[in-house]
Amino acid sequence: MSRGNGQATRTDGDRRPAARLDHEELVVRRGTRTGLYVVIAVHSTALGPALGGARLWHYRTPGDAIADALRLSEAMTFKAAAAGLDLGGGKAVLCSDSDHELTDRRRRELMFDLGDVVESLDGRYITAEDVGTGTEDMAAIHERTSHVVGLPEALGGTGDPSPLTARGVEAAIRACCERRFGSRELSDRTVCIVGLGHVGTRLAERLISAGAKVIAADIDAEKRGVAADLGAAWADAGSAMTTPCDVLAPCALGEAIDRDNLSSLGCEIVCGSANNVLAEERLADELASRGIVYAPDFIANAGGLINVYAEIHELDEARTTRLVDGIGETVALILVEAEERSVTPLKAALELAAERLGETHPHRQPAAA
Ligand code: NAD
Repeated sequence: MSRGNGQATRTDGDRRPAARLDHEELVVRRGTRTGLYVVIAVHSTALGPALGGARLWHYRTPGDAIADALRLSEAMTFKAAAAGLDLGGGKAVLCSDSDHELTDRRRRELMFDLGDVVESLDGRYITAEDVGTGTEDMAAIHERTSHVVGLPEALGGTGDPSPLTARGVEAAIRACCERRFGSRELSDRTVCIVGLGHVGTRLAERLISAGAKVIAADIDAEKRGVAADLGAAWADAGSAMTTPCDVLAPCALGEAIDRDNLSSLGCEIVCGSANNVLAEERLADELASRGIVYAPDFIANAGGLINVYAEIHELDEARTTRLVDGIGETVALILVEAEERSVTPLKAALELAAERLGETHPHRQPAAA
């Protein structure tokens, strides 16, 4: 069972867009066991129960934690709506009180604290893994509430979501290639994968078996051996983002594309799994003006969300993979829409989600549209 990434310290809060408060529910409760704050934001249940991961993070201020929950839960509403899932958007934030990793006991108590708050919401919010939490934590939460997904397979969960995330990213890449090069074939394509972790490794495997040439990069030098075993070329992490290639697939952390590197990108397409790949949403306009096709991250990486959706609805494998492969169709639709209306794919994607939300939620126009 995985444990998540331990804890992390927030360093980038000031660069995020301000959170909007138009959520259905915001709960801030102090854990009875740990005394640590548990924040749950339910943005929308218009399409179904609000689903979103539980983030364990050390925030500079309580306001940062609340803002993060508000912003991330709103993003989940749009991600689920754009993927055509009957789910709303929510997010939980667990405010660690130090930079140091929690002891096993305190961590388990914190998961129990979260489980109690989730249970009190009566199914309006379903929690899952996110940065800093893993399947073992979900198993602990499951001892206090049934409104949790991302459970270990032994507890009826669907396990590691990365294989389906990678499958969805491949479908998105093929749709981008069709738009840019007139063919979905990958055999003549060079794809640079930045971040050879859970998703990046599986994506590399898939692309190589489809005949693509893969260049991989990771800040972890040990991944060089993984790349060699897969048959991928290796690039230095410091310069990988600007490597000449057909497709740049950011599969590491967010904000991989920023003002500093955008003008040096050597790709025709940006399509990867990393969340919040653009440091600022307006960079989508600059990608478009440079002729680079961009598959919005929250569409391309929806395979992970579909994985837990399958767990909730007990979908069989065939139905689940059809939904994941549908990511390619959604990307194709967005790219056509963007071109016909001379808007960015990001704006077209946000509008698609808003359209699906329709009259059911006050958000008829998302913030970034
Ligand atoms: P992971 O932690 O397994 O892998 C990330 C990899 O990126 C690690 O190997 C790390 O060493 C590397 N890395 C970090 N910073 C880097 C840098 N600056 N340059 C190059 N490499 C760097 O994570 P993951 O589960 O593979 O997820 C990757 C991304 O996809 C994340 O942004 C995640 O939020 C997003 N995502 C993942 C899933 C999923 O199913 N796991 C679903 C949706 C979105």
